[in-house]
Amino acid sequence: MKKIAVRIDDVTPGMDPNKMLRFTNLLDRYQIKPLIGIIPANRDDTPGMAPDPNDTIDFEWIRMKIAEGYVPAMHGCNHVYTTEDAGIFPLNPFSEFAGVSLYDQLKLIGYGKKLLRNKGIDTDVFMAPGHSYDINTLKALKHFGFKYVTDGFGRRPYTQGGLTFLPISLLRSLELKDPEDGVTTFVVHTWMMDDPDFEEYEKLFSEHRERFINFDELFKITPVRRSRGKHYAEYTAARLKRFAGSIKK
Ligand SMILES: [Zn+2]
Repeated sequence: MKKIAVRIDDVTPGMDPNKMLRFTNLLDRYQIKPLIGIIPANRDDTPGMAPDPNDTIDFEWIRMKIAEGYVPAMHGCNHVYTTEDAGIFPLNPFSEFAGVSLYDQLKLIGYGKKLLRNKGIDTDVFMAPGHSYDINTLKALKHFGFKYVTDGFGRRPYTQGGLTFLPISLLRSLELKDPEDGVTTFVVHTWMMDDPDFEEYEKLFSEHRERFINFDELFKITPVRRSRGKHYAEYTAARLKRFAGSIKK
């Protein structure tokens, strides 16, 4: 049976603490350790994740969760979409990185990494805002010592452009029915969740706890080499998913 890891996007000081804590309490109750995508210098003012210094979610809280076994990832730098480029994994027609010059991507990624380090958080996992990145993003990531990207479709981790990709879920319901071995990652935006979403996850964890793994289990799997044909299939699947409109930024 396919095993499922969990990632939480948009973790940044000031985000909606009620929903964030409601979800992490649920994970903690089922002892599931997720990947958390931390935005180093959030400038996204979308309601629900807008910077607010009075909120409970701060870097101290983030460091505490990492000490408990949550795995940190760098979720872009500012989380502001500056291009209409979908990149090489085209789930969304906008990006903080895809279509940006290599020079500027190096600046963004280097700055983000430095900020996180200054907050006592070190990571070699990258989570692209909007899932969008291009070849230059991969070059800039390697330059700054990143090894993993949480994105792409597939049954197991794979290497591409010198980095290891840890695949995300194409369709939640299909992954659960998948009888064959493999791994995937469910993508969670807590600030977008409402009561029914929390109830759905509660049901999922209580009925299928054995399917869920801690995120760091993915690092223990030897990645496969991705062929060009497989990349094309992934590109097509991402476009189809975008037009089905079922993934949000
Ligand atoms: Zn995001």
